[in-house]
Amino acid sequence: MTILQIRGIVKQFGAFRALDGVDITVERGKVTLIIGPNGSGKTTLVNVITGVYRPEAGKVFYVKKDGKSVDITGWPPHKVFEEGVVRTFQIPQVFQKLTVLENLLAVARGQRGEGVISALLKNWVREEEENAKRAFQILKAVKLADKWDTPAYLLSAGEMKLLELARALMAGADLIILDEPIAGVPIDQAHEVFKIVREINQRGTSFLVIEHRIDIAFRYVDYVYAMASGRVIAQGLPEEVANNPRVKEVYIGG
Ligand code: ADP
Repeated sequence: MTILQIRGIVKQFGAFRALDGVDITVERGKVTLIIGPNGSGKTTLVNVITGVYRPEAGKVFYVKKDGKSVDITGWPPHKVFEEGVVRTFQIPQVFQKLTVLENLLAVARGQRGEGVISALLKNWVREEEENAKRAFQILKAVKLADKWDTPAYLLSAGEMKLLELARALMAGADLIILDEPIAGVPIDQAHEVFKIVREINQRGTSFLVIEHRIDIAFRYVDYVYAMASGRVIAQGLPEEVANNPRVKEVYIGG
């Protein structure tokens, strides 16, 4: 089953075509990876999916859990987010001085909306308790439960990425888009980040990942799209894409 269908996306900046007819299908329950050299259009594509840019042509469909397909092309970012398609840095940056737990509760509070005034205090307390319970379950899943009381600025680079992931889960994400989740993360922590992405994926969350460090990422993903100059140049299982002559050419410059 599909969760995201990207069809014929064209995005221009002036006369320059950053995306030139991109077709990508993201399967529900899978981890899909997009690779490509700098300037190939990966970030522009994520910006089109999440509503930052409106494409000149093409469509983006989000397929809900019940199978209903929703045309989200050109939706504003907050609406895409509310639908359950969450890019990690769509959520406001981690609050450095707040603890790990507080960072999660801040996302939950943001979701509650304006109708709270009418809520009775009793309900409010219950909701706070439920949020805290859910936050701890999520922190367990990302292996940050023992750091719940640590201010975010004391976390390692890898733990910071995991906190971002936890916040996306707290926000109720169905599809999480990770833009370079292991950039600047030391190698052992980078493997840990991807292992946890895998574990969370196995519990039902789908992922679309953009990553440069393909040596690490390829071990943890189900399917790969390779982009170059605004187009998809190859797709398949990680080993297929790794051995694709066009991909090798772009990466090794052969
Ligand atoms: P990637 O994420 O793969 O490195 P980008 O999507 O950031 O690639 O960029 C694709 C191309 O589009 C690049 O040539 C870049 O210079 C150009 N580009 C991206 N954003 C803009 C913009 N806002 N205005 C003009 N050109 C842009």
